[in-house]
Amino acid sequence: MLERLKKEVFEANLQLVQEKLVILTWGNASGIDRESNLVVIKPSGVPYHKLKVRDMVVVDMDGKIIEGDLKPSVDLPIHLAIYRNIPNAGGVVHTHSHFATCWAQARKPIPCLGTTHADYFFGDIPLTEMPNTEDYENSIGQQIIKCILQNGVERCKAVLVPGHGPFVWGENVEKSVETAFVLEQLAEMAYHTIMINEGNIKTLEEVYLRKHYERKWGKDAYYGQK
Ligand SMILES: [Zn+2]
Repeated sequence: MLERLKKEVFEANLQLVQEKLVILTWGNASGIDRESNLVVIKPSGVPYHKLKVRDMVVVDMDGKIIEGDLKPSVDLPIHLAIYRNIPNAGGVVHTHSHFATCWAQARKPIPCLGTTHADYFFGDIPLTEMPNTEDYENSIGQQIIKCILQNGVERCKAVLVPGHGPFVWGENVEKSVETAFVLEQLAEMAYHTIMINEGNIKTLEEVYLRKHYERKWGKDAYYGQK
């Protein structure tokens, strides 16, 4: 069942390690099949080098295990919140990648300082509010959804949970991994740019932000091959 999606999610999880976005078990990727409304996610706490395709866990939208012998990632409720509230989401990735997590820990949004950033994201990468610890993972999910809706679904494919790290979504799991990778590069560039600038932040002018974002993602986009 869902063999192709299981393979995609498995490979996406390994790619997080290859791209150095994840060490140990500090991250997870999932994908959804919108026809059956089933989600495939990494099992909880299994080291990546021991991970197999058959270890991927299939759950329904309520988190009930449909297939698999292992427990799903503890972050499953966060992934499900994104799938439930963002119909275009086909994949979700969470990492503790170094620079993006540093920004999350500093509790500062990642400012858009150049066109590399504007090519992918329209403006700053926002911070969510703090979750409560009672219903912890569901609360993180709620804060992420609130933040994405406030910032605009189409423009907000990545958020930072304060004191924690980044969560990203995309049209499929592979695109979500790419977004997590881009986010980490931007987080590092922003950090170094501010260092060179002796702590001063000079954001990219709106006109360039709009130009770069729109030419790639806008309704009259002309970047790339048709
Ligand atoms: Zn985490």
